[in-house]
Amino acid sequence: SKPTPYQQRSAVVHSFGKVPLGLKRKGLRIVVTGGAGFVGSHLVDRLIERGDSVIVVDNFFTGRKENVMHHFRNPRFELIRHDVVEPLLLEVDQIYHLACPASPVHYKFNPTNVVGTLNMLGLAKRIGARFLLTSTSEVYGDPLQHPQKETYWGNVNPIGVRSCYDEGKRTAETLTMDYHRGAEVEVRIARIFNTYGPRMCLDDGRVVSNFVAQALRKEPLTVYGDGKQTRSFQYVSDLVEGLMRLMEGEHVGPFNLGNPGEFTMLELAKVVQETIDPEAKIEYRPNTEDDPHKRKPDITKAKEQLGWEPKVDLHTGLPLMVSDFRQRIFGDHKEGGT
Ligand code: NAD
Ligand code: UDP
Ligand code: UDP
Repeated sequence: SKPTPYQQRSAVVHSFGKVPLGLKRKGLRIVVTGGAGFVGSHLVDRLIERGDSVIVVDNFFTGRKENVMHHFRNPRFELIRHDVVEPLLLEVDQIYHLACPASPVHYKFNPTNVVGTLNMLGLAKRIGARFLLTSTSEVYGDPLQHPQKETYWGNVNPIGVRSCYDEGKRTAETLTMDYHRGAEVEVRIARIFNTYGPRMCLDDGRVVSNFVAQALRKEPLTVYGDGKQTRSFQYVSDLVEGLMRLMEGEHVGPFNLGNPGEFTMLELAKVVQETIDPEAKIEYRPNTEDDPHKRKPDITKAKEQLGWEPKVDLHTGLPLMVSDFRQRIFGDHKEGGT
């Protein structure tokens, strides 16, 4: 079969380097949209460390310059302030497409998932780049299968308050597969489950960042609903490893990338209490509409085809995030207690 545009491009890139195969590979040029955000900035760290050249494209909607500032003097790093809803012209080998208003507080009424993904696929098509979409476990909606396998089509309310995100990502997956089938774009799809770690947005309303910030500030932990709904929490370094394996591997996906360790929100609150402040109070609040009752990835496919599985459990990962939050909330003075 004839080579795809990406294979033709890579052949040129690799012969250009004139390095014997199996020795050191030539650095790639890689775009990370949303690279100033939480997950994106950790991915950028790894790519730069590996020797690649990275262009971050971000409109700083929820991302922060501080997340990538340590690369500013590196000639292999570039930062472009740009909204991916507008077309973009670049020449690169790979596109990691993470740009997305990722929290319920931010994602309503935003066309990034559809229009932004279309533009980045158009870019990938024109230049023969490989394209990776960071989709989400939210495509499974309020799942009727547990744990969720990639073959499950999901249970999503098309007209609810969360639909903009869920359906936006589902559409992004559809567009990605259409460009793959129709325009020979080499694509990869990751379905990411709840992820936490240093540099997480402080006040975008997600549960781990909320609980950690609340405990540090001596405020009550806000548990929504009865707190018996479950999520499975993945540490960010595990996710980044999975994304890179997926991009470099031979399989399109979709792949679930998540940690199967499942917790109720009350159990999570307990881990946060144990880690930060055993005296922290719990305050119950009404839950949000259409909140999924449970969520846990089946990661058999990623294990078998990517040789990937998470290594950091919640008890190990949470303290790593707490020191970052402590510093961002209190500066260098450790007013927050322990
Ligand atoms: P984040 O909010 O920290 O990062 C998103 C980044 O995208 C931010 O830097 C933001 O400024 C940027 N952005 C948003 N809209 C943009 C636009 N129109 N143009 C350019 N840049 C734009 O969130 P994150 O947790 O790092 O999420 C990264 C990706 O992973 C997202 O696509 C998200 O849907 C996906 N994901 C994350 C999780 C999680 O738990 N963190 C779970 C499932 C999926
Ligand atoms: N696009 C882009 N950069 C490129 C090529 C395309 O941003 O280098 C955008 C383009 O503006 C369009 C989208 O990607 O809105 C889809 O492009 P495609 O060529 O697939 O579709 P067409 O323009 O033919 O409708
Ligand atoms: N949640 C909570 N307290 C908070 C924020 C969220 O109990 O301060 C709950 C929320 O209702 C949901 C779960 O935690 O059941 C995970 O919410 P998050 O927004 O972090 O992620 P998602 O719903 O997208 O999985």
